Amino acid sequence: MGRVRDLLFFFPRTYEDRTKIAKVNELREGEKGTVTVTVLGTSKIPLRTRRQGMLMVRTQDETGILSLKWFNFYPDMERRFKPGMQIRVSGTPKLFKGQPEILHPEISTLSSESSSPGMSAPVTPPGVIPVYVEVEGIPSRSLRTILGHALEKFLPQIPEDLPLYLRQARKLPPIGESIRMIHFPDPKPELIPQLKAFATPWQTRLIYEEFLKFEYLVLRRRLHRRRDPSQPLDATQAAADLTSLSAKLPFQLTGDQSRAIQEAFEEMSKPFPMNRLIQGDVGSGKTAVAFLCAGVAIRQRMQCALMAPTEILAEQHLRNAIKYFGPDLRVEMLTGSTPQSERTRILTLLAEGVPLLLVGTHAIIEDPVIFKNLGVVFIDEQHRFGVEQRRKLRNKGMRPNPEGPDAPLLQPHFIILTATPIPRTLALSAYGDLTVSSIKEMPPGRQPIETRLVHPTQRKKTEDWIRGQLTQGRQAYFIFPLVNESEAEGFENLRDAVSEAERLQNEVYPEFKVGLLHGQLKSDEKAAIMDRFKRGEVHILVSTTVVEVGVDVANANVMVVENAERFGLSQLHQLRGRVGRGREKSFCFLMVGYATGETSQARLEIMEKTTDGFKIAEADLEIRGPGEFLGTRQAGVLPFKMANLVRDQEWLFSARDDAIVILKEDPELLQERHTCLKRYFEREGALQAELFRTS
Ligand code: ADP
Ligand code: MG
Repeated sequence: MGRVRDLLFFFPRTYEDRTKIAKVNELREGEKGTVTVTVLGTSKIPLRTRRQGMLMVRTQDETGILSLKWFNFYPDMERRFKPGMQIRVSGTPKLFKGQPEILHPEISTLSSESSSPGMSAPVTPPGVIPVYVEVEGIPSRSLRTILGHALEKFLPQIPEDLPLYLRQARKLPPIGESIRMIHFPDPKPELIPQLKAFATPWQTRLIYEEFLKFEYLVLRRRLHRRRDPSQPLDATQAAADLTSLSAKLPFQLTGDQSRAIQEAFEEMSKPFPMNRLIQGDVGSGKTAVAFLCAGVAIRQRMQCALMAPTEILAEQHLRNAIKYFGPDLRVEMLTGSTPQSERTRILTLLAEGVPLLLVGTHAIIEDPVIFKNLGVVFIDEQHRFGVEQRRKLRNKGMRPNPEGPDAPLLQPHFIILTATPIPRTLALSAYGDLTVSSIKEMPPGRQPIETRLVHPTQRKKTEDWIRGQLTQGRQAYFIFPLVNESEAEGFENLRDAVSEAERLQNEVYPEFKVGLLHGQLKSDEKAAIMDRFKRGEVHILVSTTVVEVGVDVANANVMVVENAERFGLSQLHQLRGRVGRGREKSFCFLMVGYATGETSQARLEIMEKTTDGFKIAEADLEIRGPGEFLGTRQAGVLPFKMANLVRDQEWLFSARDDAIVILKEDPELLQERHTCLKRYFEREGALQAELFRTS
């Protein structure tokens, strides 16, 4: 049953209109078409490359001749085409010596007497044909035949998982009818646009069902988390400490920064762990928000940890913490290159429970690190880390409950910082168990960044223009998708950082100093280059995407991204955020390679039009799917067979609303009207729940 169920839930990718039967002389090269023709005769044409040769069937209607050709065919197929027989042929014609022909066409016989290999009987009346993703070489038409059989036999056994009252309220058809109609829709041409848009009631029903099950699990997990205990923040003391700590900052918090802090405090003063996402564009000042939360927690004797994806970024956090608060915020740093003696000293502090903020890389989740009293965890640029790493950090923070040895372990509060705004649909689905604060307001005085696509022919002109900026004392980033040529294997025309750094230094800007930064350098080498760039001794920083996150040099106002078509929009947006940090107007040039197609270009043009990270994130989700946000591995896990987070947003919201009501009225699904759902979760729920985990 499991396998058959999988088969019935293997849904068409799209639908084709074969309700229009054309004449042979109406067929257009390269456009799919369907004709009714009479068989004239068959022949086998010997081929040097194939023992079997090629099968050719000549056919005609009153307007012209059409040849059908097969390189792969069943041995007895030739005999099945009898001269004079009427067949219906579908396929994409091309012209061969001025004559139309179709390679490997799809055939259905018109007389029902023969249904033979290679000629599926017309199980679906010629009309609306579902198209499937090919599986292991099984063509769509064979799949349809198999599905037809499976449907007859097993459809009655497919359980109805959706409660009747919800189906009625949402006007959705039963499961059996839906599956049947999705695989074998009525041959009505007016249905086709709806089918293609996945908007028929049958498709909608499955979309809604997937979202409902998903939202129920996600929201239930959020509910369950409220049963875990956590050390609450004393809100009154927090407010007082916040005032004194913010007074140390060299700037006034923006309204959105203050709001994010308030939202976090409010949630942290409850006795269960916070799980909050703080999203805000690059440069919106998320770090200050994290530091202030940490500062306040430390004054309440908690330990805090801030995990950053790179050493460069961890070091920058350390410097900023010292710059902002001096001795008022105790901070230590632990990375892969922390010397042993220093490491021992820090580990001792942590084990003793000394209240402090530990900034670092993933080194802080490695084994010997033990916190005595981890109260708040911050994860910077969280999409760089996997679920597993977050879970490890959570486990690090589990600690004995002062209530007694039998009380459940205390869990730390979590704050995730991200500059890749999560589109609303993802925030509600994949991240549905997180609460979200958005920082949309930028610190004052930022000038918008001007972005331009640059074509290969304009490279020289652009390089000259940039020279003008450098001459005025500004600095520039040049970002490359690859470190060196060896990485470029199989990717011709991709520019690599190492050889381009040489070209820029020797041929283009000999009068300026070019520095090179990439992930294969040792961390002290990286730090040295970054320092020289910050001090202005290096004018041009050639780099791979290691500068993507966090790096802050206000005097750099030009960014060039080579082979911009290779990057996701959200990633480009993050890269672009490296500039626009000072008083000068900033510029971002997106260099596109020679072979960049029109769609990639259209995609990149979004970058010229907007600097709003939220809009860019939405566009990215639409174009590239959830992988950009969740990491590919997790995105593959979003378990939707029919539903699509972009296309079906409205249904996601409806399903979420319904799931909220269910969790309020009958969280454990004990009511009879929810028995069907309960059975589903008993059958598959454990597995699904594990799959849906994002935190
Ligand atoms: P991100 O959100 O990208 O992590 P950062 O926290 O690195 O941004 O902040 C970017 C820059 O803006 C830093 O130099 C920081 O000192 C500065 N900054 C942060 N908040 C403010 C503010 N309210 N007013 C002025 N400058 C600010
Ligand atoms: Mg940051």
